This record gives sequence, C-alpha cells and structure tokens, in this order.
Amino acid sequence: MNMMRAARLHTFGEALRVDTVPVPQVRRHDVIVKVRACGVIPNMNRIFSGISHHDMPPLPASVGLDAAGEITEIGEDVFDFKVGDRVYINPLLTCGSCHYCSSGRPTICSYGAFRGYFAFSPQAVRMLTDYPHGGFAEYTRAPARDLVRLPDEITFEQAARFGYLGTAYAALQRGEVKPGSWLVINGITGTLGVGATHWALAMGATRILGLGRNREVMQQLKALAPRRVHTLALGDQPIEDWIRAHTDGVGADVLLDCTGRGSAMSTTVDAIEALKEGGITVNVSALLDPLPIKPAKFMDTQLQYRGSNWFSVAQGHEMAELVRAGVVDLSTIKPQIYPLSQVNDALEAVKSRPGGFTNIVVAPDQ
Ligand SMILES: [Zn+2]
Repeated sequence: MNMMRAARLHTFGEALRVDTVPVPQVRRHDVIVKVRACGVIPNMNRIFSGISHHDMPPLPASVGLDAAGEITEIGEDVFDFKVGDRVYINPLLTCGSCHYCSSGRPTICSYGAFRGYFAFSPQAVRMLTDYPHGGFAEYTRAPARDLVRLPDEITFEQAARFGYLGTAYAALQRGEVKPGSWLVINGITGTLGVGATHWALAMGATRILGLGRNREVMQQLKALAPRRVHTLALGDQPIEDWIRAHTDGVGADVLLDCTGRGSAMSTTVDAIEALKEGGITVNVSALLDPLPIKPAKFMDTQLQYRGSNWFSVAQGHEMAELVRAGVVDLSTIKPQIYPLSQVNDALEAVKSRPGGFTNIVVAPDQ
C-alpha cells in the first residue's frame, strides 16, 4: 500500500499531527490530486479548538480546506479531466439531489459540508466520512464535478486562496455589481475585502468605497486603481457623510459587508443609510448582532438585504478565466508558504489575521 503524510486533528484544542496514512484510492467518479498548495484561514483555529457549533467528522480527521494540485489518477467514469491537469478543488461537498442542489443553489445544499473541515448539519457528516481526505496532505481524493481547471497563469498558491476569493466574487454577483456600479465595501482591508476589490474592478465598478482600519492595506488598494478606489479609515469621518460625498450626494448602489465576527454593527447600519434608493446590501460577514433596520424604509425605497455564502464550481471557472485573460491580476497577493511539517506554525501565523495582501498556504511537497 502506498503511504503519504497528512496533517490530522486527533483531539480538539491540540496541535495537528502529521501522520503517515494510506494514499487515497480512486473511485469511479473521483480523481486523486497531488496537493501542491492548501490555504490556511484564521477560522481554522476556532474550528479545530472545538468551540464551534459546526458538525465535525470523527477524529482523527484529515484536515485542510482549499487545496490545489495536479491530477495523478482518474476514475473510470470521469469525463473532461485527465492525468496531469492542474486543478483547484472546490471543497464544498454537495449531494446534487436535494431541493437546493436541484434548483441550482448548491451553496445551500441540505447535506453541504466542507471537505477537510466541517459539516453544516448532523446529516451532512456523512459527506465527510465519504470524502475523508483534507488538503493538508500529499494526496487527496475529490469528486470530478468539484474541480476547477487552472490555467498556467494561476499559481497553486493563488488557487489555494480561491475560497476567500470565490466568496467575494459570488457576493458581488449577489449584489448585481455591473459596469458603472458604485460599491461600498465594509471591511475592505481584510482578506474578503481585498479579494472583492480585485473582482469589482474587473466587473466594471467605477467607484469602490472601502471602509477599514489598516491604513497601509488601504494605500495598496488605492494603488490598484487610484481613480476608482477610495478608502476611509473608520473613525476619521462620519461614514454616511463620506459615502454621500463620494457618490454625488445620492448614495451607493451596493454595500458589500465583509466585517468579521465581533465587529461593530453601527458601521453596517451607517453604510446602509448611505445607499441609493433600490440599493442592495449583501452580507458575507459573520456579524452576530441584530441590525436595527427600518422596514418601512426598505418598502418605500425598495432596499434589499441579501446573504451570500461560498461560491459554485461554475463561478470558480469564471474566476479562473478572468485571471487567465489578465482581467484580474492576483500577483498583488503575496504567498507565505509553509511546508506540511510546519502546518501548526502556519495556523499560528494566521491568528494575527494578516489578511489583506498576505496569503498563508501549506505546500506539502516542500
Ligand atoms: Zn444538495
């Protein structure tokens, strides 16, 4: 039996252990991928500590969410992919047959689970036992339908960031961002916000108004498109006044709320107040507080408040194509690469939430 190294969670709250385990075996509709990079995100520390409400696979569990690499084996019923293809594995496992999957909304699948991470419901844990191989490993197994083919223009490290990038991309589509859109991004200096800025520029948004705290990252964002990106450090000016001053007094078309868990909800409320009539708020934040919004105003001015989570494989293909064609340049985002043996150091490094233009990944073959 061929063996490989894989980082596994044995006990909640303890460091991952790099174990020697069997290389996964291919199945009819699956492929085996030699992992070249896997993303590391701050929330992993919460999930692996066990203090979360999510449903976890049986331990020890092979972990690692956003993996990219090369196909080394394909199942007999796999079409359209071949050995040697470079791919990103969208880690959202879906059933393909529930009410939501069959109506084209896989990101709210009744049996949805993140491979190498957690399930969204007790009935979805079965997905994780069916696909028990995470991305912090030399090899992993994935359904062919979850693969995004990577052109040569995308590095494996960039693809390992697709979770964040795709969440931002899908949220902008939920907000109907289009050429000429005036967009406010709350939390622009975080990982979601920086990704959203890149995509929004590609989608043709002409005024991107970012609210954040990290002035250095705000300068970097401004440099991407000085005539289109404007930023406000929270506390410098009243938010509503500043947004109106940058939108000819009428307000923005779309608010993308990317703030983190525990952020002040007053920023979100102030930004909603600065939307145009008919404006759309899209929430991709983990804000827990209830929002004091005025339903009558939503009626009078046809405002909308929408939620968005994750992204589809199809949206992954769109993102890959935009990068291939040079419409979006991901080289602005700098990788910090840790070998698999230092996976716990990578998890430690991400605790400080460097976010922004820093991309922490684990690369098993280094
Ligand atoms: Zn489903």
